[in-house]
Amino acid sequence: MTIQYWRQRDRYYRLVGSACSECGAEFFPPVYRCKKCGSEKITDKEMPQTGKVLTYTRLHEPLPGFEAQAPFYLAVITLDNGTRVLSQIVDSPDESVKTGARVRAIVRRARVDGESGQIVYGYKFCTV
Ligand SMILES: [Zn+2]
Repeated sequence: MTIQYWRQRDRYYRLVGSACSECGAEFFPPVYRCKKCGSEKITDKEMPQTGKVLTYTRLHEPLPGFEAQAPFYLAVITLDNGTRVLSQIVDSPDESVKTGARVRAIVRRARVDGESGQIVYGYKFCTV
């Protein structure tokens, strides 16, 4: 497991993004400078746990590290504050996965690190 992962693991679990103290804009993933007004007065902000599916695809060809999970849904989700997240949709009936479907964040096993065998957890989404 990498040092990078341990440093950032809080973000994987909690969907932590950024908020601009000047204009109030929110971003995910986190930014160091506001993309709207350019301010560097940025604070961590936990993103909403709910949103809806903007678009999705069903992947049959697994990405490296995800072989055991294929096929699976990969979706762009618009969170309730307007930020967008690319995430898997899991634990959901096929017929419930569609554009506009309401989803919520859940913590699930994301992958197994090939070298160490360490299990890495992260957020995914399920339909509600
Ligand atoms: Zn700003």
